[in-house]
Amino acid sequence: MADLSGRTALVTGASRGIGRAVAERLAADGALVAVHYGGDDAAAADTVSAIERAGGKAFAIRAELGVDGDVDTLFAAFGDRCAGLDILVNNASSGPAGPIEETTPEAFDRIFAVNVKAPFFILQRALPLLRDGGRVITVSSVSTRIATPVQTSYVMTKAAVEVMGRTLANALGARQITVNTVTPGATDTDMNKELFEVPGVTAYLAGQTALDRIGRPADIAAAVAFLASDDARWITGHVLDASGGMYLGPRL
Ligand code: NAP
Repeated sequence: MADLSGRTALVTGASRGIGRAVAERLAADGALVAVHYGGDDAAAADTVSAIERAGGKAFAIRAELGVDGDVDTLFAAFGDRCAGLDILVNNASSGPAGPIEETTPEAFDRIFAVNVKAPFFILQRALPLLRDGGRVITVSSVSTRIATPVQTSYVMTKAAVEVMGRTLANALGARQITVNTVTPGATDTDMNKELFEVPGVTAYLAGQTALDRIGRPADIAAAVAFLASDDARWITGHVLDASGGMYLGPRL
């Protein structure tokens, strides 16, 4: 485990799933964690309680992303509690939105607003707060290196944030701020609840994964925690596959 004591982290979408696991892990490593969420007050409170019960420090920030004033709302609440920031994890996202035939212009705009525009402007707003040597980590998806027809608009958003990471790594390096991206594969969270309830789907996805199971949120949190740690100080502009080797090729 890394020592993040004295550091402050902001994790978006931290009330459930991967974001919650990231918040719990960074807090266990010693960071004060701002647990951002969109609307599920009970889940956010539960995340904060779990962190505090484990001896960590956290507070919740409610701000729906993808609506006018979203970034203002988020940073008004963050600024009430913290003067600076060391680790920004852009994790919140709308899930896969269906095949092209079913994607409306409104749905397309919405998914880009939540998954691309919000992380970009959260990072823009965070820049004056981010201390030198800080960390920016964005959660993308393994789906950017494969082709899943039911996820086209979603995957387009994830490709956009991967490019954002690489270019901003080059922009922020002079301040020793690293910018990296983590790509989970199929992971057991609410985002996949309905899919995983379809008989045979979990076994099928595990069968497409070199390590022979689907991911757990803590698996992704470990990758994020590594990139947040001092050990990752020389890694920037990188896309780290945290999928257990999903869809690497035929397993004959
Ligand atoms: P999840 O379980 O559905 O949790 C989503 C989190 O994001 C919640 O805390 C939710 O807060 C917040 N959120 C969603 N939309 C929001 C919005 N418009 N405004 C503010 N907050 C919002 O998701 P997950 O599966 O953990 O996914 C986390 C990240 O991993 C995402 O970037 C996702 O694309 C990526 N990913 C996941 C998988 C997977 O298999 N699960 C695979 C590849 C990549 P509220 O509940 O309060 O709204």
